Amino acid sequence: MRIADKFKDHIPVSFEIFPPKGELGVDTLRSILDEFKALEPDYISVTYSAGGSGNSEKTVELVNIIENEYGIDASAHLTCINSNIGEVRSVLEQLKADGIENILALRGDRIDGKSPSDFHYASELISYIKKENDKFCIGAACYPEGHIECDSFSDDIRHLKEKQDAGADFLVTQLFFENELFYTFREKAVAAGINIPIEAGIMPILGKTQVSKMIFKCGASLPSAIIRILNKYENDPDSLKKAGIEYAAEQISELLSNGADGIHIYSMNRPEIARDILKIIGE
Ligand code: FAD
Repeated sequence: MRIADKFKDHIPVSFEIFPPKGELGVDTLRSILDEFKALEPDYISVTYSAGGSGNSEKTVELVNIIENEYGIDASAHLTCINSNIGEVRSVLEQLKADGIENILALRGDRIDGKSPSDFHYASELISYIKKENDKFCIGAACYPEGHIECDSFSDDIRHLKEKQDAGADFLVTQLFFENELFYTFREKAVAAGINIPIEAGIMPILGKTQVSKMIFKCGASLPSAIIRILNKYENDPDSLKKAGIEYAAEQISELLSNGADGIHIYSMNRPEIARDILKIIGE
């Protein structure tokens, strides 16, 4: 089912996972997917890393398993900055052949030493996908604090509107730890004419290394409440995980009370984390 249609009658909750590096360990993968399926997500999205971790083919393979073996709607992330048109076309053909309708169309991060691609921005990829096959339902990324490379928030919003104009059907936010940032962003996006649904992306904190890696990569700001949790439980990983899950659950409950269109949990390959969050919020 097209993800965009899910927003029409309820508030979708989705999870994000990544293809394991190397061979897909069948037993591990199945037990992870069994656990995710039991949580009845609206859809599961699978990350893509062209030229990066070398798992780009695995994205299509995993999306196919989720959709066609597990009967869960799936979305394939697809980046363009490190791929040429031929590579993108062949992924689209494979997705179509597998009956996959949903794509999260992204620019991706530049890889040093890679030659320039046929694409510069996600909006170009979105236009290309629409032109190749307008049956795909296309999601795009958005940034409550502005994209890390963007000099001005208003330029970033303008470029976001270009993604909607190119054919994006819904948006998923980068992680954020303060809901006020999301509400302000949403207001500005709506004022700029963005009227497609915006799913709020939430990542539970699980440890200092995970958090510092993420915030350096995406530029999300850390509120003092998170810093306090990280310090308090520095030497107690179980309590840190519990506090991180509780913080994420609180964020989600508040977002739901404040009209978020959907919730995307960066659960990565940890179904138990998604399960604990959903248990707290009573989903
Ligand atoms: P764009 O929308 O192209 O924006 C990138 C930058 O260019 C922004 O600063 C924007 O303001 C600017 N810009 C856009 N258009 C123009 C223009 N016409 N002129 C000048 N400037 C412009 N990365 C992966 O590699 N694999 C994944 O699976 C993945 N999944 C993600 C999922 C989500 C929900 C999110 C939020 C991010 C994900 N990313 C992933 C990271 C993403 O690839 C990076 O954030 C990347 O740096 C930007 O991607 P984008 O699609 O937002 O790019």
